[in-house]
Amino acid sequence: MDFTGKHGLIVGVANKRSIAWAIAQCTALAGARLALTYQGRFEENVQELSEGLPHPPVILPCDVSVDAEIDSVFARVEQEFGGLDFVVHGAAFARKEELSLPFSDTTREGFRLAMDISAYSLIALARGAAPLMEKRGGGSIVALTYLGSERVFPNYNVMGVAKAALEANVRYLAADLGPKNIRVNAVSAGPIKTISAMGIGGFSSILNVYKDRAPLRRNVDAAEVGEAAAFLLSEAARGITGEVLMVDAGYHVTGM
Ligand code: NAD
Repeated sequence: MDFTGKHGLIVGVANKRSIAWAIAQCTALAGARLALTYQGRFEENVQELSEGLPHPPVILPCDVSVDAEIDSVFARVEQEFGGLDFVVHGAAFARKEELSLPFSDTTREGFRLAMDISAYSLIALARGAAPLMEKRGGGSIVALTYLGSERVFPNYNVMGVAKAALEANVRYLAADLGPKNIRVNAVSAGPIKTISAMGIGGFSSILNVYKDRAPLRRNVDAAEVGEAAAFLLSEAARGITGEVLMVDAGYHVTGM
């Protein structure tokens, strides 16, 4: 994959384990110049990580639940890059209570928050990116999702509902932005130990179940997800949009 001369915006790097960081590394090593956003407390991590990239990235704050912050990100990206070739959406959040209480105890506010940050934000980012991508004759957007959108996993709860909405967003955005040659896809990753994943009760046992039952008899790592996402962002995937690509060692095909 060659990203020489391409410019990308990556949302969702918290630390070196973040899946978004694996995508950043993969695309940057293939020549892309990046803008990385961070959420408040992760600024220092993102600054430190970015020192290892071949081209110094633009580093910007962005809370995806705040429209003004999203607007400033795209204003700055336009100033720095003049346009945009790809966007990675790797932001997700649900309150801890919502990931441990019985699902029927999901609160209205907890539901709203998970949906806003984990699903609506893709629409907001796509809207901001579209005019900059049009300047480049098109672009590619990739979001990160999980099989909990379709099947029930213990404690995934409202995040599963948010991922179902995120995947529906991918399809509707693909249809809406396709005529502008903007592609919108998702990568559905198998479980990987990241800060977000560790907030899900019993996460280690999910890792073990995958290892026992996935066709490849192992878990995936962030680099594998990063490379699959980079494929969807690249010219090699120019005929693919509205797709959810499973990168989970084949676990999703199993019946039991
Ligand atoms: P992570 O904790 O490294 O990344 C989650 C990111 O979301 C963090 O960078 C955090 O700052 C960001 N975020 C949360 N609220 C935000 C807000 N209001 N504004 C801006 N950013 C915000 O964990 P990760 O596992 O790399 O998660 C990345 C994506 O991958 C998420 O969408 C997650 O649901 C998805 N995913 C993860 C797994 C897994 O097992 N780790 C599996 C499938 C999908």
